Amino acid sequence: MTFGRTRSVTLEGLAGSVVEVEAHLSGGLPAFMLGGLPDAACAQSPNRVKAAAASIGHSLAQSRITVNLSPASIPKNGSGFDLPIAIAVATALGLVPPERVGDVVHLGELGLDGSIRSVRGVLPAVLCAARAGCRDVAVPVDNAAEARIVPDIRVHPVAHLADLIAAHAAGVETLGVSAPERAPRLSVAKVTPDLADVVGQEEARTALELAAAGGHHLFLLGPPGSGKTMLAERLVSILPRLSREQSIDVLAVKSLLGVTAAELSLEGLPPFVAPHHSATQAAIIGGGSSAVRPGAITLAHHGVLFLDEVPEFKAAALQSLRQPLESGRVVVSRAKASVQFPARFQLVMAANPCPCGLGFGKGVGCSCTPLAKRGYLGRISGPLLDRVDLQVQVPAITRSSLAGHAGESSATVAERVLAARKAQAERWDGTPWRLNSEVPGSKLRRGRWRLSPSVTTDIDRSLDRGQLTLRGYDRVMRVAWTVADLGGRLTPTRDDVGTALTLRNQGPVAA
Ligand SMILES: [Zn+2]
Repeated sequence: MTFGRTRSVTLEGLAGSVVEVEAHLSGGLPAFMLGGLPDAACAQSPNRVKAAAASIGHSLAQSRITVNLSPASIPKNGSGFDLPIAIAVATALGLVPPERVGDVVHLGELGLDGSIRSVRGVLPAVLCAARAGCRDVAVPVDNAAEARIVPDIRVHPVAHLADLIAAHAAGVETLGVSAPERAPRLSVAKVTPDLADVVGQEEARTALELAAAGGHHLFLLGPPGSGKTMLAERLVSILPRLSREQSIDVLAVKSLLGVTAAELSLEGLPPFVAPHHSATQAAIIGGGSSAVRPGAITLAHHGVLFLDEVPEFKAAALQSLRQPLESGRVVVSRAKASVQFPARFQLVMAANPCPCGLGFGKGVGCSCTPLAKRGYLGRISGPLLDRVDLQVQVPAITRSSLAGHAGESSATVAERVLAARKAQAERWDGTPWRLNSEVPGSKLRRGRWRLSPSVTTDIDRSLDRGQLTLRGYDRVMRVAWTVADLGGRLTPTRDDVGTALTLRNQGPVAA
C-alpha cells in the first residue's frame, strides 16, 4: 500500500467542514509536500509528523510523501491536522489497515516525541463531524470531555501516536487510552450574585426585571458607586436558564478559545461578558492576524454583554455593535475571507453622568463644564441608543435607602420573568418574534396590536408636541407590553404605558 486516507475537520469560525486527508508515497527525491490551502500553523505539520514518526521508529527521511487535504478550496487552519496526516502516512506505509481509518475523524497536534496534544475548537469540529454523519472521532485526551458533549458519535481519547497506530493495527474496538467517561457536569453549586444583595434602587430593579422579561437592552446612568455594575451582573441570575442546545453553543465558542475541562458545564447560566473600555475592536467584535478569534460579543452569545463606562469605549468599537445587534451575528472580514460568528446578546451599558462622575442631582463638587458634560454622553452614538428600550438613572445610595428592607431574591424575580416570557411566546406564536423587544414598532402602532387611544393618550400627546420621537414612541410601546406581561395583564393599561415612559426618559437622550 502506498496510499493512505483518513478524515479530519477544518473550522472557519464555528462552522466546520469534513476534510479528506490523503497521503501518497512515491519514488524520487525525498520530500514531504502538503497541498490544499494549509495556513501557517498547518503548513508546519510535515516537520512535526516527521519528528513524531522518527521518535517511534519510522524514519520518513528517505521517503517522498505527498499529502493532500481536500476539498482544496477550503482553508485548513491550525495544528490539528498533524494527527490525521500522520495516520494517513502510516496507512500508506502499511502500518495501519486502510479500512480501519478511512471513516474515522482524527484531530490533534503532535509533539516531537509522538505525544498527542490538545487543540482548540474540538467541540465545534466534533459537532460538524457528527452532522456530516461520521461515527468515530479520535481526539487528544485533554479534549475528550468537550467532544463527549456531542451526541451520536463515539469519542476515542488518544494520548500517543504509537498507541493509536498499534490500536488501529490490532483492530481493537476502542482506540487509544480508556480515559474515564466523564460526563459534563449538569449542575454546579456555583455562587452567582443575587438580587437580594441590592439594597434600595427600586426603579433600577424594575428596569432590570423588565429587561430580563422582554429581552430589552438597558442603559444605566448614575454616579460611581451607585451600584450600576452590581445590578448588571445580576441580570443573568433572573434570565431563563439556557436550553441544552444553547449551552452547547456557548461551550463551542469557549472551545475555540481553548476551553478547559474544568470550565465545562451545561448548567445553563447565560454568559456575562464585561470587556474593559480599553479593549481593542478585535477583542470586542472578533478578529486576529492568523486564526480569527471570537470577540466579547460572541462570548456573550445567549447572554449579557456589559459595557461599563461606555463613553470611554472607542467610537469605532461601539459603532461595530450595530450590525450584530440587528442580525444576531457578526462578520469579521479578513484579507482572504470573512468569518461569521453568532452574537445574539443582551446589551447593558452604564455611564457616569460626566467625566468626573459627580455631575448628578445638584451636581455638588462637579467641576465639569457644561460643554464637557454634553460631549461626554454625546460619545454614545444615537443609532446605538436607539436600540436601547430602557434608559434609567441610578441615583447615589443614600443613608435612608440603606436602611430600607432587603430586596427580593433572584429566584423570586426569575419566576415572574419566566411567566412573562411564556405570555410573550403565546402572543407572538406564528410570528418571527418571541420577545417584545424584537417586535418592530410599526406592528405595535398599527393593526392587530394597536392599543386604544385612551391607553396611549399621554404618549400620543408627547409625540405631537415633539417631546418624543417616533423611535422613542416605539421603545415605550415595546416596554409597555412587557410591563403588562409581568403584571399578568393581557394588554397594557395607561399606567403600564406611563411606567414604560418613565423608564426610557432618563438616559443620555433626555439628560
Ligand atoms: Zn463632573
